[in-house]
Formats: sequence, C-alpha cells, structure tokens
Amino acid sequence: MRFETERPASWQTCLACGHEMTETDPHPRCRSCGGLLEIRHRAPDLTPAELLRRFTERRGHGSGATASGVWRFREVVLPSAETVISHPEGNTPLLHRPSLDRWTGAGNLLLKHEGHNPTGSFKDRGMTVGVTQARRIGATAVACASTGNTSASLAAYASQAGMAALVLVPAEGIALGKLAQSLAYGARTLLVRGDFDDCLRLAEEASAKLGVYLLNSINPFRLEGQKTIVLELLQQLFWQAPDWIVLPAGNLGNTSAFGKALREAREWGLISSMPRLAAVQAAGAAPFARSFDEGFTRRHTVKADTVATAIRIGDPASYDRAVRAIRETDGVVLTADDAELLDAKAAVDASGVGCEPASAASVAGVRQLIRRGLMDPAQQAVAVLTGHILKDPGILLRYHRETEPRPAGANRPVEIDATLGSIEAVLRAATPVSP
Ligand SMILES: *Cc1c(COP(=O)(O)O)cnc(C)c1O
Ligand SMILES: [Zn+2]
Repeated sequence: MRFETERPASWQTCLACGHEMTETDPHPRCRSCGGLLEIRHRAPDLTPAELLRRFTERRGHGSGATASGVWRFREVVLPSAETVISHPEGNTPLLHRPSLDRWTGAGNLLLKHEGHNPTGSFKDRGMTVGVTQARRIGATAVACASTGNTSASLAAYASQAGMAALVLVPAEGIALGKLAQSLAYGARTLLVRGDFDDCLRLAEEASAKLGVYLLNSINPFRLEGQKTIVLELLQQLFWQAPDWIVLPAGNLGNTSAFGKALREAREWGLISSMPRLAAVQAAGAAPFARSFDEGFTRRHTVKADTVATAIRIGDPASYDRAVRAIRETDGVVLTADDAELLDAKAAVDASGVGCEPASAASVAGVRQLIRRGLMDPAQQAVAVLTGHILKDPGILLRYHRETEPRPAGANRPVEIDATLGSIEAVLRAATPVSP
C-alpha cells in the first residue's frame, strides 16, 4: 500500500520495493517482498532552531523519559509514542584522553562512551524504543537473537515493561557479563548449539510461528533509538558536526542508524556538513569490508571468528541499510585483526576509560585512518565505544594473566607470601608502569 492522502507522523517503508506499512504493523519485514523496513517520519513541523531549543531545554532536566538521552529527541525518534518504557538511558559522556591521541596519532580524539548506558551497552538506546513499540502494539512477549548485549538489554527492558522475554544466544563464546545479565534480569535464555547467525535465523522463525514480537536489529524501531548516539554527540558538540565518526560494525544496525541520523539531521537543518562514517570490522568477521573493497557489487557471508564476540557475525542482517549509510556519508569500511583489537583495547583500558573488545575496533580504526593518510590529525574524530569494560572479564584476565608471549599492554599480577619483605622485593624488581 501507499499513503496517498495526509501522511501520518510516522510509517514503515520497505527499502527493497517501496511498499509502505503503518507504524503499528508488527511484522518484522516487508509484507510484500520480505525486505528490510525503515521508519519514515513526516518532517517535523518545527523550525530547526525551535527543535534544537527543545532538545537543549530537556537536557539534564526532569525525571523518567524527559531525563532520557533517547526520548529527549522524541520528535525525530518516535513522535507518536505516548507511554514510553525508559530506564532512562543515554546521556553518555564524550571523553578525551591525551594518551589515546598519542596512541592513535589523532590530534583531538573524542570517545563517545556508550558503555555508560544502564545495561552497559548502546543496545539500551534501541531497546527503550523497541520495547515501547512492543507495548504499543499489545505484545505480551518479545524475543531476540544476540551475541549477548542485545539479550541483556532486552531482558532488562522487558522486565520493566512486565513482558516475557525469550533470548537466543550462542552456547559458546558469549561473554560472561552478558550471559549473567540475561539470567539475572529474568529472560528465558536459550543457549543455542550454533553461532549467532544460527540464532538469528531461529529467532525469526520462532517469532513468526509463536507470535512473539521480534526485537532483533532488523527491527526498524531499534534503529530509531540508536540514532540518538549521533544526535546526542552532535548536541555535545553544539551541532558542529565532526569530520569523522568511527564505530565497530557487526550486524550493521548501528552503521545503518548512524547513516539515517546524519541524513535526517542534514535534511531537517540540524547540521550543515556531513561527517564521514568509518565502520570497523574484525578481520575474522569482515564480510561488509570485503563488499566495500569491491565497490559493494556483491554481498558476502563468512564463517565469523574473532575474540570480539559482539561483532562475531558472518551474515550481517542490516547489510542493505548500511551500504546506503556508507555511500551517503562518503564513508569507509576497515578491518582490524584480533591482535590490533586487543592492543587498542589495552590502550583504552590503560587510559582509565575501559571498554569491551568489540568497542576497541573504533580506536584501532582511528589509528589506521591516520596511518593510511585518510584522516588528517587536525580533523575532529569521534570514536564510539559501544560497551562496558566489565562485559567480558574473561578476555581481560586471559590477556593480562595468561597470553604468551606477553602482549605489550599486559599487566601481570604477582602472587606473594603475606610478608612485607615480599612486597619490597616486588617493588625493587618492578619496571615502572607507563601510562
Ligand atoms: C551490538 C554491538 C556491536 C555491533 O553493532 P552492530 O549494530 O551489530 O553492527 C558492537 N559493539 C558492541 C559492544 C555491541 O554490543
Ligand atoms: Zn518490500
């Protein structure tokens, strides 16, 4: 169908065939061709100045949804939502650490730390919108496939909304913190003997059969929430767009959301220049980077393998949306191997900031952009840290205590007898710790 008369505030459009669906249609894909859906909004009936004034007024004020770094931007996220399920979330810091300027070679690298969200990853920004939408359409149960963070977030928000949550995660390779959260927040947690791509396929089949509302990142409402990572960082920069926004890329939901946020921000007069997106994949899970290198003439799938479990994805669901995001922002797609990711993570951790392994892809990406001459050190870059350092304690302990040969950034603990003498012996032998 197509809306011929007065447009509603928002609706869903198929990216493949242009078919349109109402905002409250619960189908996860296009009903006509099975393609990916995108939310479209009527242009806000406020001037850019009025819109920005509202965003400014709400910042740091109020409680509940008004205090949310997602719903603060509600006019461009989901204007018709009335009752929202909000923790609140967002309001994450934009950090600067001189040691990371030195490590990357950038002149003034800013870190947008999404690990400061309530469940420790940016997934909360999508989930507050996704679960709000689930409530609007009367769903009583929600489901997702996940490498861990989506399930942790879904579990928390479903619990807040009083809905049953079903999560499918790979039986092997889910980070400890994420699994622990899903269990603790009370989601029915299925450990699938297979990889993330198997989980995703199963979740789609199960939701169709069992009538459970699907909250994977193919769900277009989640992407509306994730757009606010970009909106909030633009607001923190007083709407002066940076030259580059660099982010880790797995299932490509975030890459797509960032592209849409920038497109709309420009269309609606909130910014005047377009940042370039740099999406960074793990070398062992880089089907999108391969397509980029071939000018997006072909879509690839791989058997994914990387220490960065949040981006261990071989068949990214949001491929089509992400291609558009990279094209429209004159973006690039890079890869970083596991050693680079862990070194970048060690640098982020040692700066006192800390992040989970996948998040470090963005900092590794900045270093590559500088080294390859794609980014000038004088340019402004924002690297997005997607998840909290404690999401994956297993990898931290392996890196610092066990990895041989000893990585440059490893900080070995020393076991001692309970005597002052042994402390003195350690201090005498110690090589100074460099920041
Ligand atoms: C989900 C996630 C990613 C990947 O984002 P996509 O939208 O799947 O590309 C990266 N880092 C962390 C910590 C995540 O949770
Ligand atoms: Zn379609």
